Amino acid sequence: MNKLPISQIGAPVLRQTSQDVEFPLSPAIYQLIIDLMHTAELTNGVGIAAPQVAASLNLFILASRPSPRYPHAPTMEPTAMINPKIIDRSSENIGGWEGCLSIPDHRAVVYRAQWVDVEYFNMQGELQRNRFSDFVARIFQHEYDHLYGVLFVDHVRPEDLISEEEYQRVCFDPLPRSMASPSSSQEHSVS
Ligand SMILES: [Zn+2]
Repeated sequence: MNKLPISQIGAPVLRQTSQDVEFPLSPAIYQLIIDLMHTAELTNGVGIAAPQVAASLNLFILASRPSPRYPHAPTMEPTAMINPKIIDRSSENIGGWEGCLSIPDHRAVVYRAQWVDVEYFNMQGELQRNRFSDFVARIFQHEYDHLYGVLFVDHVRPEDLISEEEYQRVCFDPLPRSMASPSSSQEHSVS
Protein backbone atom coordinates (compact mmCIF):
# COMPACT_ATOMS: atom_id res chain seq x y z
CA MET A 1 0.00 0.00 0.00
CA ASN A 2 1.24 3.44 -0.87
CA LYS A 3 0.21 6.83 0.40
CA LEU A 4 -0.31 8.87 -2.73
CA PRO A 5 0.50 12.57 -3.07
CA ILE A 6 -2.66 14.72 -3.25
CA SER A 7 -3.08 17.08 -6.20
CA GLN A 8 -3.62 20.61 -4.94
CA ILE A 9 -5.95 23.29 -6.31
CA GLY A 10 -4.33 24.81 -9.37
CA ALA A 11 -3.27 21.40 -10.71
CA PRO A 12 -4.90 21.03 -14.17
CA VAL A 13 -5.97 17.43 -13.43
CA LEU A 14 -8.46 18.75 -10.85
CA ARG A 15 -10.26 20.65 -13.62
CA GLN A 16 -10.51 17.87 -16.18
CA THR A 17 -13.44 15.58 -16.95
CA SER A 18 -12.41 12.04 -16.10
CA GLN A 19 -12.66 8.91 -18.24
CA ASP A 20 -14.60 5.72 -17.51
CA VAL A 21 -12.74 2.77 -16.02
CA GLU A 22 -12.72 -0.45 -18.08
CA PHE A 23 -13.52 -3.91 -16.73
CA PRO A 24 -12.05 -6.25 -15.75
CA LEU A 25 -9.89 -3.96 -13.65
CA SER A 26 -6.24 -3.92 -14.65
CA PRO A 27 -3.69 -4.66 -11.92
CA ALA A 28 -2.71 -0.97 -12.02
CA ILE A 29 -6.30 0.20 -11.38
CA TYR A 30 -6.74 -2.40 -8.66
CA GLN A 31 -3.58 -1.10 -6.96
CA LEU A 32 -4.78 2.49 -7.41
CA ILE A 33 -8.00 1.66 -5.54
CA ILE A 34 -6.09 0.05 -2.67
CA ASP A 35 -3.75 3.04 -2.50
CA LEU A 36 -6.69 5.50 -2.58
CA MET A 37 -8.30 3.70 0.37
CA HIS A 38 -5.00 3.78 2.25
CA THR A 39 -4.46 7.46 1.45
CA ALA A 40 -7.99 8.39 2.59
CA GLU A 41 -7.40 6.59 5.88
CA LEU A 42 -4.02 8.23 6.53
CA THR A 43 -5.33 11.72 5.76
CA ASN A 44 -8.58 11.34 7.75
CA GLY A 45 -10.46 11.79 4.50
CA VAL A 46 -14.05 10.50 4.31
CA GLY A 47 -13.75 10.31 0.54
CA ILE A 48 -11.14 10.69 -2.16
CA ALA A 49 -11.48 10.81 -5.93
CA ALA A 50 -8.97 9.51 -8.48
CA PRO A 51 -8.28 12.98 -9.98
CA GLN A 52 -7.03 14.03 -6.54
CA VAL A 53 -4.09 11.67 -7.05
CA ALA A 54 -3.60 12.79 -10.66
CA ALA A 55 -5.53 9.84 -12.16
CA SER A 56 -8.23 11.23 -14.45
CA LEU A 57 -10.61 8.29 -13.99
CA ASN A 58 -14.27 7.95 -12.99
CA LEU A 59 -13.55 6.40 -9.65
CA PHE A 60 -13.74 7.47 -6.03
CA ILE A 61 -13.70 6.01 -2.54
CA LEU A 62 -16.46 6.64 0.00
CA ALA A 63 -15.10 6.03 3.48
CA SER A 64 -17.36 7.77 5.96
CA ARG A 65 -16.24 7.33 9.55
CA PRO A 66 -15.80 9.58 12.58
CA SER A 67 -12.45 11.36 12.70
CA PRO A 68 -11.02 14.53 14.23
CA ARG A 69 -12.05 16.41 11.09
CA TYR A 70 -15.51 14.78 10.89
CA PRO A 71 -16.50 13.75 14.42
CA HIS A 72 -20.15 13.08 13.58
CA ALA A 73 -19.66 11.04 10.41
CA PRO A 74 -21.44 7.66 10.24
CA THR A 75 -19.24 4.60 9.89
CA MET A 76 -19.17 2.65 6.62
CA GLU A 77 -16.70 0.29 5.01
CA PRO A 78 -14.43 2.13 2.56
CA THR A 79 -16.12 1.46 -0.78
CA ALA A 80 -14.79 1.93 -4.30
CA MET A 81 -17.40 3.49 -6.61
CA ILE A 82 -16.46 3.03 -10.23
CA ASN A 83 -18.09 4.88 -13.17
CA PRO A 84 -20.70 6.34 -10.80
CA LYS A 85 -23.86 8.11 -11.93
CA ILE A 86 -26.43 10.17 -10.07
CA ILE A 87 -29.81 8.94 -11.30
CA ASP A 88 -32.08 11.11 -9.15
CA ARG A 89 -31.78 13.56 -6.31
CA SER A 90 -33.98 15.23 -3.71
CA SER A 91 -35.42 18.60 -4.57
CA GLU A 92 -34.48 19.70 -1.06
CA ASN A 93 -30.95 21.00 -0.61
CA ILE A 94 -29.22 21.05 2.75
CA GLY A 95 -26.26 23.16 3.83
CA GLY A 96 -23.30 21.55 5.54
CA TRP A 97 -19.63 22.28 6.09
CA GLU A 98 -17.16 20.84 3.61
CA GLY A 99 -13.44 20.80 3.13
CA CYS A 100 -11.23 19.09 0.58
CA LEU A 101 -7.86 17.37 0.71
CA SER A 102 -6.97 19.30 -2.46
CA ILE A 103 -7.79 22.66 -0.83
CA PRO A 104 -6.14 22.47 2.57
CA ASP A 105 -7.14 24.70 5.45
CA HIS A 106 -10.34 25.95 3.88
CA ARG A 107 -13.98 25.25 4.67
CA ALA A 108 -17.35 26.49 3.51
CA VAL A 109 -21.03 25.67 3.80
CA VAL A 110 -22.16 23.96 0.60
CA TYR A 111 -25.78 23.24 -0.32
CA ARG A 112 -26.30 19.70 -1.63
CA ALA A 113 -29.25 17.41 -2.32
CA GLN A 114 -30.41 15.69 0.88
CA TRP A 115 -30.44 12.34 -0.90
CA VAL A 116 -29.20 10.92 -4.18
CA ASP A 117 -30.12 7.75 -6.03
CA VAL A 118 -26.92 6.43 -7.56
CA GLU A 119 -25.47 3.67 -9.68
CA TYR A 120 -21.87 2.56 -9.71
CA PHE A 121 -19.80 -0.53 -10.38
CA ASN A 122 -17.98 -2.32 -7.59
CA MET A 123 -14.50 -3.78 -7.97
CA GLN A 124 -15.97 -7.00 -9.35
CA GLY A 125 -17.67 -5.07 -12.13
CA GLU A 126 -21.16 -5.58 -10.68
CA LEU A 127 -23.66 -2.75 -11.06
CA GLN A 128 -24.80 -1.42 -7.68
CA ARG A 129 -27.81 0.76 -6.99
CA ASN A 130 -28.18 2.71 -3.80
CA ARG A 131 -29.84 5.66 -2.16
CA PHE A 132 -27.51 7.72 0.02
CA SER A 133 -28.75 10.44 2.31
CA ASP A 134 -27.43 13.20 4.54
CA PHE A 135 -23.67 13.07 5.20
CA VAL A 136 -22.95 10.13 2.90
CA ALA A 137 -24.97 11.82 0.11
CA ARG A 138 -22.85 14.92 0.70
CA ILE A 139 -19.59 12.99 0.34
CA PHE A 140 -20.91 11.26 -2.81
CA GLN A 141 -21.84 14.58 -4.44
CA HIS A 142 -18.51 16.17 -3.44
CA GLU A 143 -16.49 13.28 -4.90
CA TYR A 144 -18.73 13.03 -7.98
CA ASP A 145 -18.01 16.70 -8.68
CA HIS A 146 -14.28 15.88 -8.76
CA LEU A 147 -14.90 13.60 -11.77
CA TYR A 148 -16.19 16.62 -13.69
CA GLY A 149 -13.46 19.04 -12.61
CA VAL A 150 -15.68 20.78 -10.06
CA LEU A 151 -14.43 21.74 -6.60
CA PHE A 152 -16.52 22.63 -3.55
CA VAL A 153 -15.29 26.21 -3.68
CA ASP A 154 -17.10 26.56 -7.03
CA HIS A 155 -20.40 26.29 -5.13
CA VAL A 156 -19.73 29.11 -2.67
CA ARG A 157 -19.11 32.83 -2.76
CA PRO A 158 -15.48 33.76 -2.06
CA GLU A 159 -16.54 35.72 1.02
CA ASP A 160 -18.13 32.57 2.51
CA LEU A 161 -14.86 30.61 2.44
CA ILE A 162 -13.22 30.34 5.86
CA SER A 163 -9.95 29.02 7.23
CA GLU A 164 -9.74 25.75 9.16
CA GLU A 165 -8.72 27.75 12.23
CA GLU A 166 -11.78 29.98 11.93
CA TYR A 167 -13.94 26.90 11.32
CA GLN A 168 -12.74 25.38 14.58
CA ARG A 169 -13.80 28.58 16.32
CA VAL A 170 -17.29 28.82 14.78
CA CYS A 171 -18.19 25.22 13.95
CA PHE A 172 -20.69 24.91 16.79
CA ASP A 173 -22.45 28.07 15.72
CA PRO A 174 -25.31 28.14 13.23
CA LEU A 175 -24.61 28.74 9.57
CA PRO A 176 -22.99 32.06 8.74
CA ARG A 177 -25.73 34.68 8.85
CA SER A 178 -25.34 35.37 5.15
CA MET A 179 -26.15 31.72 4.35
CA ALA A 180 -29.13 31.30 6.64
CA SER A 181 -32.64 31.56 5.25
CA PRO A 182 -35.99 30.55 6.72
CA SER A 183 -36.61 28.01 3.96
CA SER A 184 -33.35 26.12 4.32
CA SER A 185 -32.61 23.49 6.87
CA GLN A 186 -29.08 22.66 7.87
CA GLU A 187 -26.85 19.89 9.01
CA HIS A 188 -25.08 20.87 12.17
CA SER A 189 -21.37 20.86 11.60
CA VAL A 190 -21.35 17.36 10.16
CA SER A 191 -18.51 17.68 7.72
ZN1 LIG B 1 -12.49 17.13 -2.53
